Amino acid sequence: MLVSSPERQATLLERSRAWVEVDEGAITHNTRVLRQRIGPHVKLMAVVKANGYGHGDGATAHAARAGGADAFAVASLAEAVGLRQQGLQEPILVLGHLSQADDVHGCWHWRLLPTISTLDQARMFHAVASDSGACLPVHVNLDTGMARLGVPWQEGAALIQAIQQLDGLRVEGIYSHLAAADALDPGLTRQQQKSFDQVLAALTNGKPARLCRHLANSAATMANPSLHYDMVRVGLALYGHAPAGHLEGMLPLQPAMAVRSRVTLIKTVPAGTGVSYDHRYRTKRPSRLAVVAIGYADGVPRLLSSRMGVLHRGHRLPQVGTITMDQLMIDATDHPQLHTGAVVTLLGHDGTTAISPRQWSEACGTIPWDILCGFSNRLPRLSAGRSPQQGDQLALQW
Ligand SMILES: *Cc1c(COP(=O)(O)O)cnc(C)c1O
Repeated sequence: MLVSSPERQATLLERSRAWVEVDEGAITHNTRVLRQRIGPHVKLMAVVKANGYGHGDGATAHAARAGGADAFAVASLAEAVGLRQQGLQEPILVLGHLSQADDVHGCWHWRLLPTISTLDQARMFHAVASDSGACLPVHVNLDTGMARLGVPWQEGAALIQAIQQLDGLRVEGIYSHLAAADALDPGLTRQQQKSFDQVLAALTNGKPARLCRHLANSAATMANPSLHYDMVRVGLALYGHAPAGHLEGMLPLQPAMAVRSRVTLIKTVPAGTGVSYDHRYRTKRPSRLAVVAIGYADGVPRLLSSRMGVLHRGHRLPQVGTITMDQLMIDATDHPQLHTGAVVTLLGHDGTTAISPRQWSEACGTIPWDILCGFSNRLPRLSAGRSPQQGDQLALQW
């Protein structure tokens, strides 16, 4: 019996349109696969920034923890606090640059690890922390080739030694970020690793360092164990996708996301009918067009117009005409079985067929990361087990 609460109605109404389906079991599986890849002595930090690459950060983090994740990374303080509020107790590293006194209090209160890139930032953190009698653990970021955050690596050892004199801070980790770990040519990665190693050597002077050293993203984790150090920071692979074509199939990863929507209207039009804005597509034959209730405001890139398709019961139906904000059209002329209310798959598996984020990103000139985190909050995130079956009519009752 469905209860006729306002929440229930809202959920069902949303589900009747389009949704993101998240397979938490796949995230747990992928974490185990990555754990196996790195071995028992390397820690696994699950990167769940940007709402878990669009999958939902709390659900992703819990699923990754079940697969053996030791720690989490996010971009902002707000994302980190959100994870704490969703019950995650593990270490959380904030990858973004924090520079306000208030951020220091936030890190202390919520037990978050800030990233330190400059001496001024370190002094400010120290001043605020020591005022409160606190000693805040931090991770120092070295810029070895991103020219983004981090201290220029040549100044890395001096910065760390300076921070070690500040009693409000304790350097717990040292890391850097690779600019081209997914490239076929390992040249830049080798150079970055060499710079990273030079800083470590200057620090330890032959003595073992007690710092947690981390450098690898998904691509480096998959491609090269010498980049693993004490911990790896994995994002994309956690969600079941290889960071590059040449790394595909290397590990048995399972894609965790599917994006599905519903056919809301079917119409038959004569040959020569202009379809959607600007009539960029014109039917060549009498056609059966199906309207699907998802558009670019939901995260289907408008650049995919006429370059994508949807799956229904193992068939691929071409999308035609310009993708609009809330809807897109598909050509169902050769698919008379497609009916109003049918569920179509835009991304992910439909039985044995599938459409990958890489197929989308290659068709519109971007990267799979951009596709995954581009799905808007208008699409509810549903656990894979809870969503309607393929082709089902969703019974809306209240
Ligand atoms: C996003 C991010 C990662 C994860 O990268 P993937 O390629 O998705 O594995 C790791 N480290 C830093 C600093 C990041 O910003």
